[in-house]
Amino acid sequence: MIFSDKVSKTKVEEYLRAHNIRPSIQRMAVMEYLANHRTHPSINDIYRALHPTVSTLSRTTVYNTLHLLAEAKAVKELSMEDNVCYYDADTSNHAHYKCRQCCKIYDLFETEIPLLAEIKKLVENDSRFDSADLYFRGICPKCAEKEERKKKQKFI
Ligand SMILES: [Zn+2]
Ligand SMILES: [Zn+2]
Repeated sequence: MIFSDKVSKTKVEEYLRAHNIRPSIQRMAVMEYLANHRTHPSINDIYRALHPTVSTLSRTTVYNTLHLLAEAKAVKELSMEDNVCYYDADTSNHAHYKCRQCCKIYDLFETEIPLLAEIKKLVENDSRFDSADLYFRGICPKCAEKEERKKKQKFI
């Protein structure tokens, strides 16, 4: 699902129910956070953001909740690194790229990466596969611009 703007609690509850997940306070909090923060946060990011307001939320609960949401395909789990997983409320067909400099993770859609449509077809039609992830690394336009500016300043 692609969430737009600020997602309400009612919408989050409906979304969980549609994925056969009982909307407990903790699950609601985690799902609401992901729907409203499209920055691909890690378990730690989510725990740190939610713990002050939802004090009953332990790191283990966040971990278990994310696992459950991913199993139910309510969120996408991005395992682009060995030691950390990132989470995405947008489960539509898209790829990701991580900027080496600012470490932000950006979305890439079919309009930019036509290969995504091919991969999707392959996963849907070949019984050997049930999912595929495409990750890129590089320097984002913002960081590239900053670098450019720094270079220019050196010569002034
Ligand atoms: Zn960057
Ligand atoms: Zn994404």
